[in-house]
Amino acid sequence: MLQGVDVGRQNLDSYRACVGDEVVEGLRTLAAPLRGARVLHVNATPYGGGVAEILRSEVPLLRDLGLSVEWKTISPGEENGFFKITKAIHNALQGDPRGLRDEDWRIYRETSARVAAFLRDDYDVVIVHDPQPLALPLLCGRGDAHWVWRCHIDSSAPNSTVWDRLSPYLAEFDAAVFTLGAFVPPRIPVGRVEIIPPAIDPLSPKNMPIDASLAKGVLDWIGVDTGRPLLVQVSRFDRWKDPLGVIAAYRIVKREIPEVQLALVGSMALDDPEGWEVYREISVSDTDDPDMFLFTNLTGVGNIEVNAFQRHADVVIQKSVREGFGLVVSEALWKGTPVVAGRAGGIPLQLGDGVGGELVDSVEQCADAVLRLLGDPAAARTLAAGGTVLVRERFLLPRLLGDELRLVGDLLG
Ligand code: UDP
Repeated sequence: MLQGVDVGRQNLDSYRACVGDEVVEGLRTLAAPLRGARVLHVNATPYGGGVAEILRSEVPLLRDLGLSVEWKTISPGEENGFFKITKAIHNALQGDPRGLRDEDWRIYRETSARVAAFLRDDYDVVIVHDPQPLALPLLCGRGDAHWVWRCHIDSSAPNSTVWDRLSPYLAEFDAAVFTLGAFVPPRIPVGRVEIIPPAIDPLSPKNMPIDASLAKGVLDWIGVDTGRPLLVQVSRFDRWKDPLGVIAAYRIVKREIPEVQLALVGSMALDDPEGWEVYREISVSDTDDPDMFLFTNLTGVGNIEVNAFQRHADVVIQKSVREGFGLVVSEALWKGTPVVAGRAGGIPLQLGDGVGGELVDSVEQCADAVLRLLGDPAAARTLAAGGTVLVRERFLLPRLLGDELRLVGDLLG
């Protein structure tokens, strides 16, 4: 099945104060010839993870710009393990050498065909996010629409067997969009390739300005000691985001600074069945340490709490070993918080070389970088301020809207 996601309304004019009149006017000019264009975004989950985060902000703004935009998620039914299979494909695109069984490919195709039967064919442009709905155009027929595959994953070195199996599905698309040029896999069977990095919404409850005392109040209420140093990683419970590496780095830091605390804030996404396994592994290492906190969206940690964590933390960690982009990095930098992050995928676009924080390649480097930043809070905040400037210039939602409007405009000719 395909399920529509309800996103409410937005007015682009509210962004004038943040990005300036010129940017807003520029977007209205770009969108004017596209008024009424019927655009569908399809992904796998209405919450949890970066794609849902972006669509929730982007879809109402595109509507405000006059396009007729819908957002739908695929609901394959859990009984045949479809999302387990698509997570394995996701992992393989990120280089996991494990392949899929023929039986998995059969289920992928048959389930996709069932979902495809629900797709109407009256769109001008259909934007398909990531591998879960990738098979739709082959199975439902392309109709008159222009099809775009938006890959949010670091697919620079995919498992070649899995990539080859996906190729016939990909060949149906008119354009493919990646975050970085380096992510475009070899032998891509799509004529047009675009590079468009993601962006964060500066006005969403997760990123809106809240004052320090409110952030502190929220964390006090949650049970964190706001008088002591706090390290935070916000991310899905996913091995590529290396939560166990974060815990190992925290333990090294704790030897030097015994009062330090760690909060792992993780969301469970509908399409990520591995989340629970990773969550259980982390819970085991968490049991005897009162200074380690584990929170999820299922226990009431929502956008305002994430905002408070990212704002109040002394250091935000994002120790990914593979990362498409990592919205969380820009989210933290936007709030003026320094970030220590894995040198992976799209993360170095957002920080590095004395801007925003430090890039690391190991647990030890992560602990060293955190210790340096905790040891000199003034220098750490100055570093973070450079990251805020970079986010303002390159990673705010209006820039993303502009890039996508240009693409839709070109496709519709
Ligand atoms: N997120 C959240 N609550 C959590 C964990 C993550 O709201 O407990 C959000 C996070 O703030 C970010 C998104 O989920 O907006 C994750 O996007 P990112 O690009 O960092 O990673 P992805 O999950 O897409 O791999």
